[in-house]
Amino acid sequence: MTVTPMMAQYLEIKAAHPDALLFYRMGDFYEMFFEDAVNAAEALDIALTKRGKHNGDDIPMCGVPVHAAEGYLLTLIRKGFRVAVGEQLESPAEAKKRGSKSVVKRDVVRLVTPGTLTEDSLLEARRHNFLVSYSELRDEAALAWADISTGAFHVMPVARVRLSPELARLAPSELIVADGPAYDAARPLADEYKIPLTPLGKASFDSTAAEKRICTLFNVSALDGFGTFTRAEVSAMGALIDYLEITQKGKLPLLQPPQQEAQDRVVQIDAATRRNLELTRSLSGGRAGSLLSVVDRTVTPGGARLLEQRLSSPSRNLDTIHQRLAALDFAVENTRTAEDLRAALRKTPDLDRALSRLALERGGPRDLAAIRNGLSQAEVIAELCGGRELPALMANAIADLQGFDDLLSLLDAALVAEPPLLARDGGFIASGYDPELDEARTLRDEGRSVIAAMQKKYAEHTGVSSLKIKHNNVLGYFIETTATHADKMMSPPLNETYIHRQTTANQVRFTTVELSEIETRILNAGNRALEIEKQLYARLSGAILDAAARLNTAARGLAELDLLTALADLARGENWTRPKVDNSRAFHVQGGRHPVVEQALRQQGGETFVANDCDLTAQDGAAVWLLTGPNMAGKSTFLRQNALIALLAQMGSYVPAESAHIGVVSQLFSRVGASDDLARGRSTFMVEMVETAAILNQADDRALVILDEIGRGTATYDGLSIAWATLEHLHEVNRSRALFATHYHELTQLASKLEGVDNATVAVKEWEGEVIFLHEVRKGAADRSYGVQVAQLAGLPASVVARARDVLDMLEQGSREGGSKIQIDDLPLFAAAPPPQPKAAAGPSPAEEMLANIHPDDLSPREALEMLYKLKEAA
Ligand code: ADP
Repeated sequence: MTVTPMMAQYLEIKAAHPDALLFYRMGDFYEMFFEDAVNAAEALDIALTKRGKHNGDDIPMCGVPVHAAEGYLLTLIRKGFRVAVGEQLESPAEAKKRGSKSVVKRDVVRLVTPGTLTEDSLLEARRHNFLVSYSELRDEAALAWADISTGAFHVMPVARVRLSPELARLAPSELIVADGPAYDAARPLADEYKIPLTPLGKASFDSTAAEKRICTLFNVSALDGFGTFTRAEVSAMGALIDYLEITQKGKLPLLQPPQQEAQDRVVQIDAATRRNLELTRSLSGGRAGSLLSVVDRTVTPGGARLLEQRLSSPSRNLDTIHQRLAALDFAVENTRTAEDLRAALRKTPDLDRALSRLALERGGPRDLAAIRNGLSQAEVIAELCGGRELPALMANAIADLQGFDDLLSLLDAALVAEPPLLARDGGFIASGYDPELDEARTLRDEGRSVIAAMQKKYAEHTGVSSLKIKHNNVLGYFIETTATHADKMMSPPLNETYIHRQTTANQVRFTTVELSEIETRILNAGNRALEIEKQLYARLSGAILDAAARLNTAARGLAELDLLTALADLARGENWTRPKVDNSRAFHVQGGRHPVVEQALRQQGGETFVANDCDLTAQDGAAVWLLTGPNMAGKSTFLRQNALIALLAQMGSYVPAESAHIGVVSQLFSRVGASDDLARGRSTFMVEMVETAAILNQADDRALVILDEIGRGTATYDGLSIAWATLEHLHEVNRSRALFATHYHELTQLASKLEGVDNATVAVKEWEGEVIFLHEVRKGAADRSYGVQVAQLAGLPASVVARARDVLDMLEQGSREGGSKIQIDDLPLFAAAPPPQPKAAAGPSPAEEMLANIHPDDLSPREALEMLYKLKEAA
């Protein structure tokens, strides 16, 4: 069976990229064959056809038009595919020159993977797109990450136990690891966080080769200038660069020199805490409903990305926090300037991403214009802040915007106001910039009028007034006249000027030396104009890339100013306050609010949010508030709002409170008892315990710990004992500042035993037998749990509610009278139900037996309710 030369070429290229869909360029289409075609047709919902045969079978095929390829790529990437883009590397004419049977040369010019995207249409403008590499070498491990759409490049050592929280923080678009143990460590996490995982050969992670690769990329002879790195860090960075070389086929993106991150500079927040607090994603997975969505008032993509980064990694360095707050003070106080800055920032394009597309030769005239517009806005912005004393952070940002005069005047002079998308169409260089280009364009554009003038001249010259100059693809420009007039032109002396070209049924066509010269010049002029523009494009793009590092810094300055003024806008608009952050172990919030719940309530237009105080200030030991109160009272909201306030303060923002004094928090933990976590579909109690264990093993006296109904995922006694022991451990061993919400009223006794534990409760009021939520947090223990009232609110049948009340009264009376033994006889069974059947003479009924075994002290309201159902069933 012979294979056509084209199919042979296809199979060869495909063999080199077995794990990617191959987009095989054929003219105006990318075509896919075999398995690829079947998979792509299904994923893209496009027609599957066939072309030719292979080994006697039809070859399945599908294709997408090149001009619409980005949209299809996006769908494929989202669905987890990788795509190898195979282009034609020469024109069919060039191929023919090599031999009549030659196939056009093709090869893969780029591998499109989720972590290596640069196209605006494939990226979320307001989010980072991190490619992360994880390396383990003997007993060291490290993470390196880069966003090739912005050039950001970072690295840090990481212990294997810290891999999960760091991945949760970075939220990678793609994770690369070496085959073997590293892959095994990363696999479950990648599954859990739904990160596309790409295994690479060990060679990519070899640290000696890695060092060479990094040195070559940054054109240095040693890494020392960038810092001191562990072998694992070098290996992680090197693998990342190798992967970029593989996917970008040698065209390396513009990476900034690696920035080393230290774990102890930012608050440690693990994956479960991030999820619970809904920092950048809500529990349902979207951005809506997250803290990020509520605090984001940035007006540029760069600012939005910086905000997400800050929110994901709040600082624990006092200097950093104070610097940010001082700058924010300025922006809050100088409203006018801040508003003017925002107006100017709004018009600033995404410098980072434009720059990185230019570096990868995937850019176009609009990216040149983006740099120009960004720089000219930067000038406006610097002027707005000119001539006054600025806080350091702002002054630095403004300084970073300067020094681009030459580049800006170059771009200003060279580019039209609104350039077209593609360089190959031309038309982006302003007229008056390049005389040669101007001339070529004039010739091209004036072609029509030059030709019209010639036509007039020829008509006069020949006396044939109906003569026309026309154009077609075969002859180019020609003079056309009817056969009757043709004789005239073919007779001397005119025939010396008019050269016969063609005779058709009714027409005769001529040309002149002058006309063919003009034609060549017109055609050439168009091509020449394009050629000149192409050269100018390369020159401008080169000038920009020469300034790349400084442009990245300027972009960073713009993002910083955007974030600052956005936070100021938020602080003013929402009436937030400047937190006091210091090295103490204070945690004192007065009139604190939950920004997300507050906004939701406002949007519903009903209740207003009730502000609450929280004081966990500790001297040496722990400070714990044990919070009780009925379901729906607002316990979780209170817990979370305090964690969010700490986090906002440490990222350098004002906070939703009347006042806040926070001693730097180094670790933040938040856990929710099992039954709130059903969506994740694991053995939830096990998860709850694993997560609680993580806290008890890690939290120190600088940690802030939020525990919401820990222990409720198991039977009462178990749950109570676990909660009890957990609380004691937190108090005695971890000595953290903590908020602990529970429905185990028994725990409230601990307040009198443990010095650092205080009781607090969310107040409710009972009115005509119904419970009214006040959402007020007060000192002291809840007097009761109001489970029955809440059940009534939930729409339980009136008879069940009434019955539950009776049971509850009896149970409570029983416990007051000093025993857990219940006086069953005092509790007329099922008064609300139809009259019971006469009892058998001997022994208690099953329901009575069950009642006898109930220990009211051990029951949560929910369990009481469940018991009630069981009782009813048993009766
Ligand atoms: P719990 O954890 O006690 O069951 P939640 O914290 O989930 O209660 O709060 C239940 C609902 O009560 C919230 O969805 C919110 O609408 C409302 N709520 C909570 N705290 C407040 C508050 N401080 N002011 C106003 N409404 C609140």
